[in-house]
Amino acid sequence: MLALTSKNMSRSALKSSETDGAAVSLNEKLAELASDVASACGFDYVPAVLPRRGRGGDWSPEQRVIRVGIRDWTAAGDRLWYVVAHELAHAQVDGREGHSRAFWRRLSDGLCRTGRLELIRHDFGYREGALRAAREGGLVDVPGQREFAFEIGDNLVDRDGTRWVINRRFRRAGRPQYSLEAPGWTWRVQEEEILRQFKPRRKSR
Ligand SMILES: [Zn+2]
Repeated sequence: MLALTSKNMSRSALKSSETDGAAVSLNEKLAELASDVASACGFDYVPAVLPRRGRGGDWSPEQRVIRVGIRDWTAAGDRLWYVVAHELAHAQVDGREGHSRAFWRRLSDGLCRTGRLELIRHDFGYREGALRAAREGGLVDVPGQREFAFEIGDNLVDRDGTRWVINRRFRRAGRPQYSLEAPGWTWRVQEEEILRQFKPRRKSR
């Protein structure tokens, strides 16, 4: 893995570091990192990797390019390495498969190969599939799933007296979340928030 210090991750590094005769351009460093990560994970295909603003990574199957947010260049520890591995896993197949089960398996197989499955924790906050892949890979201390306290169709009345209906439920990092609807409104909310703010009322059936 490349040693990337905060010195060469400043905003000016986005343009280039050609003022320093010995310096390698940021794009070259990204390319080298992508190549290192790919060979560690056993991924054959290494597309171009470019920096962009913001955080996180993305893979464009149309342009066949990975972009990595400059804020992840300054992230602590192994975050950048993981972001590149995640996007490389997307790039190994044609088209847009999204975060399918096959995607998570490919990524976790790659991480296992290099003994770094635990890096998948970087996606625990966002992706339910990451939690499943971590469990299937035998990782310990994976956050557990909590059961849902409410059902789809249940009515909830908030403190202002607005009546909401649960029309969807899902989990983020194992925690129950809901999509609620009131006339003209949609609201995504964590179950914990509902338990704090609402007076739940069962739908009469
Ligand atoms: Zn992704």
